[in-house]
Amino acid sequence: MQYAPLGKTGLRVSRLGFGAMRLPMTGDGDQATVDTDVAIAMIHRAFAAGVNYIDTAVGYCNGDSQRVVGEAVRTWGRPIVVSTKNPCFTRDESEWWRTLEQSLERLGLPRIDVYHHHAVNGVSFDEFVLPHMAAWMRKAKDQGLIKHIACSFHDTNDVLRRIVDSGYPEVITVQYNLLDRRLEDGIAYAHERGIGVVVMGPVGGGRLGVADSAALLSAAPSAARRVPELALRFVLSNPAVDVALSGMSAMAHVEENVCVASDARLLTPEEQQAICGQLERLRKMSELYCTGCGYCLPCPKGVAIPKIFERYNLGRVWGLWGPARQAYRNLGTLAWDPGSRADACSDCGLCESKCPQKIPIRRQLKEAHEALLDSKNT
Ligand code: SF4
Ligand code: SF4
Repeated sequence: MQYAPLGKTGLRVSRLGFGAMRLPMTGDGDQATVDTDVAIAMIHRAFAAGVNYIDTAVGYCNGDSQRVVGEAVRTWGRPIVVSTKNPCFTRDESEWWRTLEQSLERLGLPRIDVYHHHAVNGVSFDEFVLPHMAAWMRKAKDQGLIKHIACSFHDTNDVLRRIVDSGYPEVITVQYNLLDRRLEDGIAYAHERGIGVVVMGPVGGGRLGVADSAALLSAAPSAARRVPELALRFVLSNPAVDVALSGMSAMAHVEENVCVASDARLLTPEEQQAICGQLERLRKMSELYCTGCGYCLPCPKGVAIPKIFERYNLGRVWGLWGPARQAYRNLGTLAWDPGSRADACSDCGLCESKCPQKIPIRRQLKEAHEALLDSKNT
């Protein structure tokens, strides 16, 4: 297993972390709970292979992840670094403390090693974290309930730099993978300044498939046999990344991940360049279908044409059918994601006369709708 210092925390952590957000479940829908025996066997297999960092959160696995993570850690003979989170949009101090107490109770542990403000962005950092929650975090640290302060982060490089420059968090957890390298500069900036860098989604949420996987794998033929393996190796080859947190849902994922993280072979600059070249080709291929320019809008029926094509491409170009279908089902149901799905189209044809790509929009909308609701495309 590869290890790295987690910034200046003094912790030495495995570069592969166990993400406990997709543990195997038993039961249906909202009533489903984590399949304790299977999940603990998976977690212990990862610990046995040298993984010593595990991350959970209040809401993961129908709110049952912390219980199982706690049991797995308590029944393991050696120290494990436990990370969890507290939501970051509240000014209510008693609510914040209640969340911390509940997490400690569910985990069954006396303290949390790395405690995150969950899903921080520029607005929440300025309006909630710094003026209110930072004092609560420091108090919890003084009381020995938490060891290190962290932020899980979703925003731009500029905001990330600003948070790093504030000198507040000791660790940041950010999204970074082959398909989403937007925060690469911010990650390097944080690492240079001694902030521990944890990456979530290193293999695209565990489902990175890539439709044209043969071409991608041919870019670095000796590095990996499967795209998820290549994706994890790609993230671990970035020296600014201390921990790659992989959400593992089956023993096969655990075995594949520990195998990659135990092998110190990094991708060469030439291999990385070749992989990025292949990804760029795939990205261009998706732009041939729809560039997202929005000239076809507005649609009189509110059909969110470019968003639908973007989700369709997520499946047919990148092989990410699971997230694509989820995002399509959610379209129009969340305040920040307005618009109608393709079945609202009345076939008026207005959009097609405005599309510079000459896309047969109506036909492609129908295809997208069928594919995105097709349970075979998972
Ligand atoms: S053809 Fe359908 S998607 Fe295009 S503008 Fe008319 S209703 Fe909207
Ligand atoms: S006008 Fe054409 S290319 Fe532009 S967003 Fe609409 S469908 Fe896509």
